[in-house]
Amino acid sequence: MAKKLTRAKAHTLYERLSTKVPAPETELYYKDPFTLVVAVALSAQATDEGVNKATKKLFAVADTPEKMASLGEKKLGEYIKTIGLWRNKAKNVIALSNMLLDEFDGAVPQTREELEKLPGVGRKTANVVMNVAFGAPTIAVDTHIFRVSNRTGLAPGKNPLEVELGLEKITPPEFLLHAHHWLILHGRYICKARTPDCSTCTITDICLYKDKAFKDEAKKPAKPKRKMAGSPKLKTATPKRKSAKHKVKKKAAS
Ligand code: SF4
Repeated sequence: MAKKLTRAKAHTLYERLSTKVPAPETELYYKDPFTLVVAVALSAQATDEGVNKATKKLFAVADTPEKMASLGEKKLGEYIKTIGLWRNKAKNVIALSNMLLDEFDGAVPQTREELEKLPGVGRKTANVVMNVAFGAPTIAVDTHIFRVSNRTGLAPGKNPLEVELGLEKITPPEFLLHAHHWLILHGRYICKARTPDCSTCTITDICLYKDKAFKDEAKKPAKPKRKMAGSPKLKTATPKRKSAKHKVKKKAAS
C-alpha cells in the first residue's frame, strides 16, 4: 500500500505552499462564469497559454451564450484551431451555449450535477468552475495534482477520483478553497513531470517520493550510513584465470 502523509504533515505542506502564494488564481483568461466554462472546456490537453491566446480574441466577439451560439461552429473553429482537438471542442462549446440558453436561462448553473449535463463538461471542469467562479471548496484533479498527490504521499490514488476523495479527506478545511491552485502551481513549476526540482522545493523534508532529484548533490539530505559493527571484511578479489589460449601456447612449448 502506498505511504501516506500524516494529517500534521499535510497541514505543514499546505502551510508552506500557501506562504509562497497566499491568494492563488487561475492562469486561464476569463471574464465571468460563462467565459470560464468555455476556457476550461478548451483547456483539456492544451496549455493555458495556448488557450489564452485564442480566447482573448474569441471573447472580444463572443462572451455570452447568445453571441457564442450565433457565432456558430465554423466561425468558432477559426478562433480556436490552434488548440488541440479543436473540432470536437467547437462542437461542444456551441452545444453547451445552446443548452445554457434553453435550459438555464442563459446562466451557468452552480451545482456539479447540472454542470456535468453540459456538453464537454466532465467532473474536472465542473470542479474548476465551482471553485473559481462560485467559491466552492472543490479540488479538480488534473495531471499536475495527480502527480503531486501521489509523489508526496498527500493523497495517493490510482485514478483522479480516488485522489480527489483522498484530498478532500486530508486537506484541512482552512486550505480547501485554494488547495487546487496551490497543488497545480507546485506541480507545474516545481514538482515537474520529468524531473522534479527538489533542490528548490519547500516541502522536501515532508515529501515521501523515493526518487527525488537534486541539482546540487551537496543539498541532498544525507542517507543514514549502515554500519555492520564487527563484521570482517570480505575478500572480493578473485584469482585470475589463465586463458585457454595461454594453456595451448604452454602445451606447444613443452
Ligand atoms: S521534494 Fe521533489 S518530488 Fe517531492 S514535492 Fe518537492 S519537487 Fe516534488
